[in-house]
Amino acid sequence: MATDARLRVRVTGSVQGVGFRPFVHGLAHKFALHGFVRNDACGVLLEVEGARIEEFVEALRRGPPPLARIDDIRLEPIALRRERGFSIEPSRGGKTRTRITADATVCDACLDDLFDPASRFHLYPFVNCTHCGPRYTLTRRLPYDRPQTSMASFAMCEDCERDYHDPADRRFHAQPIACPKCGPKLDRSIADIVATICSGGIVALKGVGGFHLLCDARDERAVAELRRRKGRDAKPFAVMVANVASAARIGAPSADDVALLQSIARPIVVVDKGEDDLAPSVAPGLIRIGVVLPYAPVHHLLFHAAAGSPEGASWRSEPQEFALVATSANPGGEPLITDDAEARAKLAKIADLIVGHDRAIVARADDSVMTMIAVAPAFLRRARGFVPEPIELSDDGPDTLALGAHLKTTVAVTRGREAFVSTHIGSLDDRATIAFYEETIRRMLDILDVRPEIVACDLHPDLVSTRFAEASGLPVFRIQHHAAHIAAIAAEREIEGPTLGAALDGYGYGDDAGAWGGELMLVDKGAWRRLGHLSPLPLPGGDRAAREPWRMGVAALARLGRSADVTARFPHIEMAEQTARLATSRSVAQTTSLGRMFDAAAALAGARFAQAYEGQAAMEL
Ligand SMILES: [Zn+2]
Ligand SMILES: [Zn+2]
Repeated sequence: MATDARLRVRVTGSVQGVGFRPFVHGLAHKFALHGFVRNDACGVLLEVEGARIEEFVEALRRGPPPLARIDDIRLEPIALRRERGFSIEPSRGGKTRTRITADATVCDACLDDLFDPASRFHLYPFVNCTHCGPRYTLTRRLPYDRPQTSMASFAMCEDCERDYHDPADRRFHAQPIACPKCGPKLDRSIADIVATICSGGIVALKGVGGFHLLCDARDERAVAELRRRKGRDAKPFAVMVANVASAARIGAPSADDVALLQSIARPIVVVDKGEDDLAPSVAPGLIRIGVVLPYAPVHHLLFHAAAGSPEGASWRSEPQEFALVATSANPGGEPLITDDAEARAKLAKIADLIVGHDRAIVARADDSVMTMIAVAPAFLRRARGFVPEPIELSDDGPDTLALGAHLKTTVAVTRGREAFVSTHIGSLDDRATIAFYEETIRRMLDILDVRPEIVACDLHPDLVSTRFAEASGLPVFRIQHHAAHIAAIAAEREIEGPTLGAALDGYGYGDDAGAWGGELMLVDKGAWRRLGHLSPLPLPGGDRAAREPWRMGVAALARLGRSADVTARFPHIEMAEQTARLATSRSVAQTTSLGRMFDAAAALAGARFAQAYEGQAAMEL
C-alpha cells in the first residue's frame, strides 16, 4: 500500500463560483483524502493528505466542472498534518489575483427541475446551480461568496441551507441558490406576461444583465408599434425562439451556428433568414437575422406557458410557434436599463407591462452578438456570457487601461498577461452612456484590483475617451484606430510577432489626420506602418456623408469624372449638383473608408440614400 503524503495545490484561472470547491471535496472523498479547500484572492488553494494523491491530481486535471477554466495547477509537497476529514474553509481576501466567471445559461439539470412538478424548484424563475446561472451580473466584489453578491439580502430557507451544505448536492456552495420559499420573486406572473404578448402588447422584462423589450415576432402590428415607441429606429431586432428546431424555421443556421446558439454563453447569432413568416418589421430590408435561444429560466417559462404548459420534456426540443422580439431596453441609445425603478420611469411609454424582480443586477451586460465568418466565430458585440473572461496575452507588460474610441466602445484593462475587455458600453454621445463608461472603468479597476501604470487611447485628439486619458494624469499612449483594430484581433487569435492586417472600417483618425477606413497595415508590438489603402474618395459634407449615402454616390461619380451624371442619378435630391461641385473642389476632405465606399455603391444602386443607423446601407446592399 502506498504511504501517506501531503500536497498543497494552487489552482488559478476562472475557478471561483463554478463549483470548484465541491468538485474538490467530492474527489477528496472519493480518494479517501484529508485536508481542506478554500477560495482566496489568487483562486483556489487546497491541501490533500492520504495515499491516493496521484489519482486525485489526475482527476483534478481531467474533469473540472463545466464552467471552470483552469490556467495553471501548481503542486507543492508539504509535511503531513494528520488531520481527519476534508473541509471547505471560509474564503480569504487579500490582493486580488482571481476573476469573476461570466454568466452562463441555465443547465439541463436545472431545466429538468424547473419543469418537474415534484421538484421544489418547479416553475421557479430563479433556479440555478453551481454549473449554471448568473455570476458577473450579480457580483459586487471578489472573492465570490453570497454576501458579496446581490443575493446577500436573501436568507436561505432550511431546504436551501441543507442543499448548500450537502457536498453530494448539485447546489453545494451554489452562491445564488434560491427557491420559491426564500428567493427573489418576479413581480408579475408568467401568465400575465404571455397574455400581454399574445394580445399584441409590449413587455419590459428584467433578465440577467438588464431589461429586454419583448413582443410577438409574428405580429407585424406589435413589432411596428415597438419600433415606433422606441423611436423610429430601423435597426434589426433579434428574435428569441424556444430551441434549435424553432430557430431552423425562422433562419437557416449552419451546424456551426447551432453550436454557437447552444453554447453556455448563449449569444445572439446572426444567421441567414429562413422562409418563415416573421413580421416584416423585425429586420427590414435584411437577408440575415439575429437569433437567440432562451438562457434564463424565466425565458423558458414563457415558451412553456405559450405552448399551453405541456407536461414532459419533449416540447423542449420540438419546434414552437411562439417567437419573441427580444431587444435591449435602451431608450434613445442610452445604456441598457437594469434597475426596476428606472425601468418604471423610462419604459412606461414604451411597454404595456413592466416586469421586474427583487434580485438586483449589479453589473449591466447586454446580449452578446456573434456570427460565423467562414469557419470562425466572430464577435459583433462581446458582452453577457463572455465578460469578464480575459484574453491571454503572450507577453507581460505594464498594467494598462485602454480607453477605446467613440462608437460602440469598450474599454480594456491588462493585468500582467491577462487582458480584460469590458462589456459593450455604447457610443459616447450622451451623458448616460458616458456615465456608464466611467462606472465601467471604475468597476473593472476595482474588481481586478489594478492600478494602471499607463493609459492607451485613440489618436483622435477630440474624443471623450481621449480627453478622459489626458485627464488621468498617467502617461498616455496614443494608438491609430486601425492599428488598434488589427492588434486586438491578433491578441484574440493569439497571433504573435509582426502582423499584416487589413482594417476595413467606417472611420478612424489617421496618422495624417485624414479619414481612414480601408487600410493595409503592418503592426508590430507598439508600432505600426500604413502600407497601403483604398483609393480615396471625396467626403463632401464631412460627418453628414456618413449619414447620407447619396453624398458618397455623388462623390464617386465626381471622382470618376462623371459629375454630369449626378442629376440623372439623383433627380430627387436638390443639393446633388451643389454637392458634386463641392466634391471636385480642392478643399474637400478625402476618405479611404470602405464603409463610405459601400455607401456610394448603395446610393448608386438606388438601394439607400439616407441611413437611420450606422452600417444600414452596407447591410442592406
Ligand atoms: Zn444548473
Ligand atoms: Zn429556499
